[in-house]
Amino acid sequence: MAENVKKDTKAKEETKSPDPSGGRLSRLRFRKRDVPGGLWLKCENCESIIFRKDLEAKGFVCPKCGFHFTLPGDRRIQMTMDEGTWEEMFADLSSLDRLSFTDTVPYSDKVARTVKRTGKKDALICGKGEIHGRPCVMAVLDFTFMGGSMGEVMGEKIALAADLAIQDKLPLVIFTSSGGARMHEGMLSLMQMAKTCAALATLNDVGGFSVCVMANPTTGGVTASFASVCDLTLAEPGALIGFAGPRVISSTLKIELPPGFQRAEFLLGKGQLDAIVTRDELPATLARLIDYGTASWENYAGRGLSSQAAGMKRLAGGEPGEKKEGTSAG
Ligand SMILES: [Zn+2]
Repeated sequence: MAENVKKDTKAKEETKSPDPSGGRLSRLRFRKRDVPGGLWLKCENCESIIFRKDLEAKGFVCPKCGFHFTLPGDRRIQMTMDEGTWEEMFADLSSLDRLSFTDTVPYSDKVARTVKRTGKKDALICGKGEIHGRPCVMAVLDFTFMGGSMGEVMGEKIALAADLAIQDKLPLVIFTSSGGARMHEGMLSLMQMAKTCAALATLNDVGGFSVCVMANPTTGGVTASFASVCDLTLAEPGALIGFAGPRVISSTLKIELPPGFQRAEFLLGKGQLDAIVTRDELPATLARLIDYGTASWENYAGRGLSSQAAGMKRLAGGEPGEKKEGTSAG
């Protein structure tokens, strides 16, 4: 254990020393120990040494300070969806190296290695399932796959997820944790910002319902597109959410940034988020929001499961299927 701690401290020093933001930026980088592999871990927020089993039991939330660790996509699905209801879809889509891009290694090699390591073909896991008995389409960004970066595949899968939500009259739930657009795909990755927003706008036009939960970290082109345009935007406590990094902003504007800048709590205060929800409360909260959001949606597959939804319908006094003002913002 002592050796592990020593290694951790050394690694921390290495990541900290060139970072004038005092370690805040280091959270942007995915490190293997964020998703536990060893028996012991160090919380990067309070620096407590945590036994892996304890962390797992708490849903990868620090038992000392409540820091929400980055969660692998599979684990997120397992913690959110009702057991035995999850059905993955569009899993075969994989990236094309259209630009023949090479940085330190060719992009195609990098993708091939990541596919082999993770067993996934891209950074977005998409499918259908139920949350507390409410059927929905869910898309989860997996930070373990190239930092959850958005390329053509992610854009296409978000668009397919929105189409599926329209076709099957289901709400769309998105979980994000991403470093932003995938630079290896150049302009093609930036085009996914428009594509995903257009897909969500179409879902919105037919009276559909979408909710996004931003987890630590949600940055760049993902924040600036589909994560922010859902009907409701939630975040986990302490999540880093922003477009450009704090260091870039600070040095460009030559100003000192306010405390808590780009953290979920700061953004909630500015009206960028609708709510901050702890990980253990997310499934129940999502189920409640789905009831509210789909109350006026005729033939919602989960109709009749919830007395709340029926109550909302009565309160609204409208016919089922009629789109209510103010239920959608995206
Ligand atoms: Zn902690």
